[in-house]
Amino acid sequence: MKTADVVILGGGPGGYAAAIRSAQLGQSVILIDEAQVGGTCLHRGCIPTKALLHAAEVADNARTATQFGVNATFEGVDPEKLHGFKNTVVSRLYKGLSGLIEGLGITVVNGRGKLTGPRSVDVDGTTVTGRTIVLATGSAPKVPGAITTSDRVLTSDQALELATIPDTAIILGGGVIGVEFASLWASFGTKVTIVEALPRLVPNEDAAISTYLERLFRRRRITAKTGTRVTEVTSDENAVQVTLESGDVLSADVLLVAVGRAPRTEGLGLAENGVTVEGGFVVTDESLRTSVPSIYAIGDIVGGLQLAHRAFQHGIFVAERIAGREAELVADAGIPRVTYCHPEIASVGLTEDAAREQYGDGVETVTYDLAGNGRSQILKASGAVKLVVDPAGAVVGVHMIGAGVSELIGEAQLLYNLGVKAEEAARFVHAHPTQNEALGEALMAVSGAPLHLHG
Ligand code: FAD
Repeated sequence: MKTADVVILGGGPGGYAAAIRSAQLGQSVILIDEAQVGGTCLHRGCIPTKALLHAAEVADNARTATQFGVNATFEGVDPEKLHGFKNTVVSRLYKGLSGLIEGLGITVVNGRGKLTGPRSVDVDGTTVTGRTIVLATGSAPKVPGAITTSDRVLTSDQALELATIPDTAIILGGGVIGVEFASLWASFGTKVTIVEALPRLVPNEDAAISTYLERLFRRRRITAKTGTRVTEVTSDENAVQVTLESGDVLSADVLLVAVGRAPRTEGLGLAENGVTVEGGFVVTDESLRTSVPSIYAIGDIVGGLQLAHRAFQHGIFVAERIAGREAELVADAGIPRVTYCHPEIASVGLTEDAAREQYGDGVETVTYDLAGNGRSQILKASGAVKLVVDPAGAVVGVHMIGAGVSELIGEAQLLYNLGVKAEEAARFVHAHPTQNEALGEALMAVSGAPLHLHG
């Protein structure tokens, strides 16, 4: 039997952040994971996909180099070296994280955990007890019942390890993961078709951003079949066939199923021990406490945005609360959202539709096209910055699309979360020439004093 002040089940961004902050605050900590600490984010999510997307950008740069007067040619991708690069990044970060955890005296228990009581977990026959338990078991790819995964029918887990670059690919789902894979495969030379049941790509983003993305993807010869449902998927040794409800059949080397991620709460002993679960997600109060007072839940198993930095903040928050400190959570709307396809998408706050629903007709918007931004022109980055402002003039939504815009989200999240008025923010200076100026221009424009924008 092992015991500690805080026992954490799951060592992804949520679980390991809770472990680190708890240890920093003087608690003894046991962190249980059946795989490697770092979770989906480090091993099968954020980091490996962004490594591949960076390689994809290098491929695009080689392909377009002559437009900038630089002689270079794109001659293809070496999958072994590509995976070597990606895996080196992951293993370096894993080593650093493991060292940090060890250095803080956190006990890592490797094995599958299951709740057995309000303060106890069974890990492959060993009982682990704690004053407080934190559930952080994360999520896994959702695969619709009618679809069976195979060598050709992949989830993101398998797509990240593909030994070859497919000539053709169909992607089921035009959300974040779907468009990121569409983007990187297209950069590597794959002919990509996305099939999305909803009327637009990235349906959780502002509608204007979806329109831009669809246009810019078309330029990249990525086909998007939106408002389209799939009725059947079959595959053989040569190809995968996807039948659409229109009766059309698409065929490709691989199909990526990217229809969302399900919380990993089954078989964890939750309901048996009084933890309320709804639709697979653990139900918590505003302090992330479950229906059992000694048990908290954090990260992807709590309904809402499934993002690593949300899980980090959950982990830090519960650790502070468990240690008896005051702590505040940033609500999901104030959490920055970035999609790292090419062009990138970055947003925070409310979409125009959501703002109109909340604040009525007094909502104002402005869209500043990156065509007017010097740095974006140098980078040949098409896209826009759209601001949504409430009737009192406060910034309630920032929506950006274009190469490099992920780096602008830092300022945008402060504007939203601090409730800054556009007019107030517009007087601050944005360095020239940066893409950040596009945000400055949009702030000036929505305050009625545009500089580089026609009336
Ligand atoms: P997870 O990271 O899923 O970790 C849960 C851990 O619990 C795992 O290590 C698992 O082994 C362990 N576990 C589960 N059940 C048990 C059990 N019974 N016993 C023991 N251990 C168990 N988010 C971003 O913010 N930015 C991105 O760019 C981004 N890109 C992504 C790309 C892809 C392809 C995917 C799939 C996800 C991406 N995400 C991204 C989402 C991000 O990875 C998740 O939101 C984040 O990992 C959730 O953290 P978590 O701690 O809740 O769970």
